[in-house]
Amino acid sequence: MIISHNPYTGEKLKEHKEFTSEDINTTLDKATHAFSEWKQTSFSQRSGLMLKAAEELKENKQQYAETITKEMGKPISQSIAEVEKCAWVCEYYAQHAEAQLSPEAIETDAEDSYINYAPLGVVLAIMPWNYPFWQVFRFAAPALMAGNVGVLKHASNTMMCGGKIEQVFLRAGFPKGIFQNMIIGSKKVEEVLKDDRVKAVTLTGSGPAGSAVAKTAGGLIKKSVLELGGSNALVVFADADLEAAVENCVQARFQNTGQSCIAGKRLLVEEKIAADFTKLFIDKVKALKAGDPMDPNTYIGVQAREDLAKDLESQVERSVEMGAELLLGGVRKKAFFEPAVLSGVTSEMPVFNEETFGPAIGITIFNSENEAVALMNDTQFGLGVSLFTADKERAKRLIPQIEDGAVFINELVKSDPRLPFGGTKKSGYGRELSAFGIREFVNVQTIYFK
Ligand code: NAP
Repeated sequence: MIISHNPYTGEKLKEHKEFTSEDINTTLDKATHAFSEWKQTSFSQRSGLMLKAAEELKENKQQYAETITKEMGKPISQSIAEVEKCAWVCEYYAQHAEAQLSPEAIETDAEDSYINYAPLGVVLAIMPWNYPFWQVFRFAAPALMAGNVGVLKHASNTMMCGGKIEQVFLRAGFPKGIFQNMIIGSKKVEEVLKDDRVKAVTLTGSGPAGSAVAKTAGGLIKKSVLELGGSNALVVFADADLEAAVENCVQARFQNTGQSCIAGKRLLVEEKIAADFTKLFIDKVKALKAGDPMDPNTYIGVQAREDLAKDLESQVERSVEMGAELLLGGVRKKAFFEPAVLSGVTSEMPVFNEETFGPAIGITIFNSENEAVALMNDTQFGLGVSLFTADKERAKRLIPQIEDGAVFINELVKSDPRLPFGGTKKSGYGRELSAFGIREFVNVQTIYFK
């Protein structure tokens, strides 16, 4: 049995009966059958349905948002924003998929040669709880528009969200079997992935989960995309607009109660402005309203599970033992972790060299551009970096030295359907969103007429 709990109230929300091997077999049969017809539909047929999915999300955003908030503790206003963003990605691919996958003529010695993009079939999506709707839709919208079908293995603590997402597609009028939610724990993933009917896999989650899935997929020679952890640096130079930088850095770290792969997790500040910056930053963090996630004014909710808050508490405590100073917060009460700010953080400390998945951040001082670059890159992860500076030329000079999948200047790193999203190093491989995302799960077919 897989159980959904409300992490704020502790209440048991629902018991889900885990799929048996027979249930998995039925799901994959349905998916395979659905694919044989879906792949023959036109872009305009798929677009029509995808726009209906967007409408369904927008019309019932309150109801979907409440499921998110109840199941993983996200403040309701942020859950509503998440559902709206899902509608956006559906609309984006409804509008652009055809152009992104239209055949591309290539001049060669052939009479006619071109690239054709064909769907792969059943794609398995293994998804996390932190943006339980967004992570799924950013996979599903392009995958389905490309003519694939999806089977979802959602995180065990957000199975209700998985069921609601399947409902969105059914209510929108997608034929049965195009998108199905499977109620399975992580132990049953291998059985699904090993099935010949599953052609590819995408996983958003932690490094160990990514590594296990990639190992199985690699052994079977199946395509995989991995979107894993991150430890983005927020780099504030002395010439930055201080107020704006503080505002951005607070949001970058504390939205979604700090539980985001692309959250700014390491705050690097130039020494000249460190004292002023820290004061302003602390004032802003103090002003964040914590409380009942169902209250529309709440900004900081609880973490999705108590063990996650305990992990964060340990990372903060171990960093303090190593010499960091706790300037604010850091007290835990069950799944609630009071937003914490530490100073005097060095690259050996857990809040710097491990991924912190909650509302805590450490400040590290730098004195030169070279030092800033060395600190930015001193991580096993590579999702993104934010630079705050008034000097565009400086930013351009630094970009080639940055190893991450994204560099945002004077803005927090965020995902946008129009831009590719993905990481380097232990943050994974492959890209989601934009034309790059929709081309991950297709057969890039070479056509040659003599
Ligand atoms: P997680 O424990 O890795 O879980 C993610 C998903 O993988 C869940 O569905 C989980 O199922 C499944 N899973 C876990 N171990 C597995 C295994 N050995 N084989 C197959 N599936 C397995 O991650 P999480 O704690 O839910 O999410 C937090 C992590 O995700 C953070 O590291 C965060 O940075 C990362 N993340 C990355 C992105 C990105 O786009 N790069 C976005 C969001 C989050 P169960 O729940 O049943 O265990």
